[in-house]
Amino acid sequence: MRELYFSPMLLGLCLLLALAVASTALWRVSRPYSGPGFWMAGIWSLIGGIVLFIGFMATGSPTLNVLGNAGQLAGEALFLLGIFRFMGRPLPWWIVPVSVAVMAVFNIHYWVYAGSSDFLMGVYSSIAGLLPWQAIWLLIRARDDNATRPARLLVAISLLIYSVVTLVRGGFGYVNWWIDHPYEMPYESFSYLLPYNFAIPALVMGFVGVTLMTMQRILALSEYHADQARSSAQRFERLMRASTSGVAVLREGLIMDANPGLEKLTGLPRDQLLQKPVTALFAPESHSALQHCLDRGDVHEQELVARHLSEGAYAAEISLSPLEQQTSDCILEMRDISRHKALEKQLSRLATHDPLTGTLNRRAFDQATHTELDRAHRYGHGFCVALLDLDHFKRINDEYGHAAGDQVLKSFASCCGQQLRATDYLARFGGEEFIILLVDTQLEDARQLLERMREAVQGLIVEELPQGQRIRFSAGLAQWQAGDTLDALVRRADKALYQAKRSGRDRIATLPPATEPDDVLFRDI
Ligand code: GH3
Ligand code: MG
Ligand code: MG
Repeated sequence: MRELYFSPMLLGLCLLLALAVASTALWRVSRPYSGPGFWMAGIWSLIGGIVLFIGFMATGSPTLNVLGNAGQLAGEALFLLGIFRFMGRPLPWWIVPVSVAVMAVFNIHYWVYAGSSDFLMGVYSSIAGLLPWQAIWLLIRARDDNATRPARLLVAISLLIYSVVTLVRGGFGYVNWWIDHPYEMPYESFSYLLPYNFAIPALVMGFVGVTLMTMQRILALSEYHADQARSSAQRFERLMRASTSGVAVLREGLIMDANPGLEKLTGLPRDQLLQKPVTALFAPESHSALQHCLDRGDVHEQELVARHLSEGAYAAEISLSPLEQQTSDCILEMRDISRHKALEKQLSRLATHDPLTGTLNRRAFDQATHTELDRAHRYGHGFCVALLDLDHFKRINDEYGHAAGDQVLKSFASCCGQQLRATDYLARFGGEEFIILLVDTQLEDARQLLERMREAVQGLIVEELPQGQRIRFSAGLAQWQAGDTLDALVRRADKALYQAKRSGRDRIATLPPATEPDDVLFRDI
């Protein structure tokens, strides 16, 4: 014990213990960076080996000797593996078992055949001195990693000192074995003191180096991440500015950020938008739909009615998507679709209505009246169809011009529309011919309605026509009978119209319901 106390071994052991604690701390603070875990394991293994070696010195147990040497070499090899891991290179795992195995074989041989302890020390030091070369080479050659360069050089130099000292120590061992030098107590021999006086300090320096290396790596990576975060914030900012849509960041229904597009869409400056409930941007009738969207958090192209401060309500389309997974923040994207809506309405009107008179076109009439026909079939509700044709309309065109003719068609259609109920249908059948479907109407009522219509049309004043010029029409009326198709009904109305024309125009003609269309029995009114 006294010898231990006065030998550098205790100091070396204490230094290694300090390193072990420091390496454990480094491992804790630097997780998940790779490398420090190996350094920690290596130093603890080295200490384990030295403790076993002290045990061997106290007891003389060969097993402790073998295990002690193996533990120390394994520790050194693990420390070096940490450097490979830190540099992101494939790990040469084989150095651990190979160095331990070679040492163990010589160590066992020494005990079994009572070999020379100097030779054994030579073998141990050769392995320990050669192990760091691979790592030194790697540290010097890693030119692409500029951030850690100074610390890498420090580690490489420390390992080099460690290696040279250990190899010199090995050299002494071989020489002593060769000249058959008498046995010396370890702590009295020069070669034994070499590692404690020089190699362990080099190891301490190396550990300082790997700590610096780790810190430089962490610093470089955090600078890199800070740069990334800065440029991604700038990109986000630019994106917000460049977007022609209104974009807002929402947190629990409040606006946290807004882009210039949203200022334009709402008529509110950014500072008034911030912290405002998003519902304030929409008309009350859209509030429940908006709330539903907010509850879902991920919505694509939902149409709502938005509000502009001075221009009032308009059709808007919104999309919502979560901003981050960890928070409930979401991104609202909003677009003014009022022009699209108007265009859509215009297109759908063009597809279903006659552009001149605004009445239904023939196709839309066919579609709309099919439901009436179904209803009539199902419930037996009767209805009537009338075909109206302006009398001598060609003359109006010829005498007063096409524009005047157009105006007459418009006024005529509007006048007829006013006489009808909202449930009836009026369509332009072609040229100056119109068709009317009177829902839930019996023949007599339909005739009376058409009569009123005839009087109203005669009273029409069209600016383009000279005063006193009357507009007249003839009509053919047909009532729905069970089993009728729309075509059959229209054919009957057409025949009645033909009859109305033939009998002098300006009148309404009908076919008695029971009559076959071809056996016409016309009745003029
Ligand atoms: P009838 O009393 O026998 O029905 O004689 P009509 O002159 O009214 O009938 P006709 O079929 O001979 O002429 C219809 C005219 O309607 C011919 C066509 O130029 C005109 N017309 C058709 N569509 C339009 C339109 O959109 N605008 C104008 N201004 N005229 C139209
Ligand atoms: Mg006509
Ligand atoms: Mg005609």
